[in-house]
Formats: sequence, structure tokens, C-alpha cells
Amino acid sequence: MSASPGFILILDRDLPATQRNRIKRRLESLGATVQFVSGGTHPVLEVFGDTLAISTLRPETWSGVARRVEFASPHPHVAWGAGRAALDDPTGAETARRPTVVALGGEGGTRRVEVGPESFTIMAGPCAVEEPEATVALARTLSEFGVEVFRAGIDKPRTSPYAFQGLGSVGLEALRSVREEVGLPVVTEILDVRHLGPLSEAVDLLQVGARNMQNFTLLEELGRCRVPVLLKRAYSATVREFLLAAEYILSGGNDAVILCERGLRSAAASEGVVLDIGAVAELRRTTHLPVILDPSHGGAKAYRVPTLAAAATASGCDGLLIEVHSDPEIALSDGQQALDVETFRVTLARVRAIRQALRD
Ligand code: PEP
Ligand code: MN
Repeated sequence: MSASPGFILILDRDLPATQRNRIKRRLESLGATVQFVSGGTHPVLEVFGDTLAISTLRPETWSGVARRVEFASPHPHVAWGAGRAALDDPTGAETARRPTVVALGGEGGTRRVEVGPESFTIMAGPCAVEEPEATVALARTLSEFGVEVFRAGIDKPRTSPYAFQGLGSVGLEALRSVREEVGLPVVTEILDVRHLGPLSEAVDLLQVGARNMQNFTLLEELGRCRVPVLLKRAYSATVREFLLAAEYILSGGNDAVILCERGLRSAAASEGVVLDIGAVAELRRTTHLPVILDPSHGGAKAYRVPTLAAAATASGCDGLLIEVHSDPEIALSDGQQALDVETFRVTLARVRAIRQALRD
């Protein structure tokens, strides 16, 4: 029985390590997963798992334990407060309100990008790498426009098994060239947990697509690695399910997660999809993680993308993910929603003007 995600124990400030380890082992012997967190004013134990057996023991009364704080949230790692507050501020809430900034790139000559509330990150590129040289040329153009992260798929989750599935390792080579020759960090989708090794060495950010948002095996593996993750919301997931998916990654030890709203399916919506801009406000209230919006998949048609990009920018999110193709008419995937380069340039100028207006 798993009653709650757990609680944290704030230990006495100068508690010797031997005594702390004794407390930790005792909790572990009861089946809890226990993480020691240092660096704050007090040492802290985060206790996860079946808390029923432990709570009957009342560890808050044990010698060496100063205080016990319940996780008020079903997803304590992604939520504001709780364990985060305890890290350096057991009595106050300053840390609890500090948003996470996800840093990526900065290696192998790529530029370093920080995704969070102090910046507004534009990620753009074609749905898929199609022709390696054209991909590098497009990346160069986008870089000149000020795009900070190049996004292109090499393994595409296609509805039809007969549709273009991506170039795989050839596509990965093209992304390597983008990093080396253009200097942009790259993001691509991971479909299979077996690809984690090669992909995590070659890209700066791993995308988990909408269809894999609840691939819990994949999420757990991503929690164990140290590559930043772009987690897209499944098109039928509630915000709670979205946050619980992120919790899988953070609870494994990887807190470099960027959330991406990409539109919900609805038979009533025009083009069958509605970009849930209201989710930005909801996510801001519930999580410290950065949030970006994808007006391309949330738009489904290129003519709708500039409108949605403008609205998304005004929502106060931390960035956008936009599909761009040098010739959308011949794109092998998602051509109907890709912006051509000129429309992208104009859209970006509008996005920047809105950002500026928000700052003024
Ligand atoms: C994509 O980003 O190209 C993609 C397939 O997106 P989603 O997983 O949101 O459908
Ligand atoms: Mn796409």
C-alpha cells in the first residue's frame, strides 16, 4: 500500500553523520526510499514510499530529528515548497518560491542556454531531419535569426507505419554537424529507452513526445541520467497527470526538466486541437519547472501558428517550440503546420515585440 509520496525529516543542525545514517537505515529497513540532502542550514532526509509503517513509529520524535514536514503535494519534487523549502530554509519559504532554471548546451563549442523566467527561449527547426546538408543550412539561418536551440526529430512517432520514420543515425550525424558547425545546442525526441546512451552523448536536450508522456520505463531511465529533458504533455492528459509524469523524472534525481504544452485533442476544436494556454497559469501555480508552449502542434495548420505563437508569448511562458521548414510543401512530416523561413522570421519579430511590451 502506498499511502502518500512521503515526508521530509529536518534533522538537528550538527547531527553527526553516524546518527543520521542510523535514522536513514532504520527508515529504509521499513521499506522507504530515503535521500539525504545537504547544503542547507539543516541536514534533511527526504522519505518516499509506503509511509504507513513509518508513520506509526513517529520518526519526528526520534533523537536527532528536529521536525517532520508532510509533502502536501502528490508530486513533491515538481511542486513548489515542501522538500525544496527544507533544503536551505527549514523555517521559511524563500527556496520554495525559486523557479528552476534548466541550463543546456555550453559543451563542444555550443552556446549555453538557460531556460527559465529570466529568459525567453526559442527552439525551432523542422519536424524531422530530412536531408543533412539542408538541415545544417536551415540551422545556420535560424541561428542568425536568434533561435537558441535547434529542434529536429530523427526517430519520428508516426501514426502510420508506412509514413517517414526519420533518418535515425544519419539524422544524428546531421545534428552533430549543427552543434559543431553552427554552435547551436540541439534537441531531438527519444522514442526508445535503448537509444538513451547514444542520444545522451550527442544531444543537449532529450524530448519526450506527447505519445510517450506516460512511458514510465522511459521516464524512470531519464530520471537516472543527467541530460536535460523536454517533456511534452500528452494530448489527452490532465495537468495533474502531466506533473506526475515529470515527477517520475525528478524523483529519480534529474531535475533538469522543461514542460511543454502542445495542444489537446478535442473534436469540438477547430482543426481538432486546442492549445491549452490556461495551463501556463495552472503550471505556474503548481510547479517550479520552466514551461514552454508549442504553437505548431497546438495549431496543426501553418496559418494558425503565428496567432498562437503571439498568444503563447503573451501568456508569460518561458519559451516557444516552433516547426520551420525550408519548403513546407515537400516536408516529409508535419509540413501542413511548418512555417516557411520568411513567415517564421516575421512571427519571431512579433514575438519579440510582445516580449518587449511585457517588460515595459
Ligand atoms: C514533434 O515534436 O514533432 C511531435 C511529434 O510532437 P508531439 O509529441 O507533441 O506530438
Ligand atoms: Mn512535428
